[in-house]
Amino acid sequence: MKKSIICAGSFDPPTNGHLNIIERASKIFDNVVVAVAINTAKAPIFSPQERLDVLSEIYRNTPGVEIDSFEGLLVEYARNRGIFTILRGIRTMSDYEYEYQMALANKTLNSEVETLYMMTEGKYAHLSSSIIKEIITFGGCLSGMIHPLVEEKLRQKLLGK
Ligand code: ADP
Repeated sequence: MKKSIICAGSFDPPTNGHLNIIERASKIFDNVVVAVAINTAKAPIFSPQERLDVLSEIYRNTPGVEIDSFEGLLVEYARNRGIFTILRGIRTMSDYEYEYQMALANKTLNSEVETLYMMTEGKYAHLSSSIIKEIITFGGCLSGMIHPLVEEKLRQKLLGK
């Protein structure tokens, strides 16, 4: 039987930290479903469709990585997809505290769902979507932090070029 996992997040925008987690997961699981959260509470830079498009382009030639989106509860999405393993990345203690709460909440909502965690690789430990937005807005260098395609879209979106 194929082993699948859902790698869920906002990915607004995806950073190399996200891509690293996806890539490492794809070495362990047959099918990694990258699930873009359509979160109406957050004010995103990229629309869900734009995030789906850029991730689909990045993984166009990567069998075993699938891009999808979901609205509402992640556990409901997991149930609908018939995939009961969720992957999240951890960078800091504050990530840990947040993820701990989320995992317990998800377990309460659906006891079949297991959340697995992957520790960030050291060189990505400082990377977050919000830091990327900040750096690009103030003209800093993003080398090694985001995929060139993401950088291109971000420049268009935030700087109009
Ligand atoms: P969310 O809004 O659901 O937290 P994010 O896109 O911010 O979505 O993050 C999705 C997942 O990726 C989270 O588990 C987060 O901890 C993880 N993540 C984000 N940045 C990194 C990174 N640099 N290294 C490892 N994991 C990361």
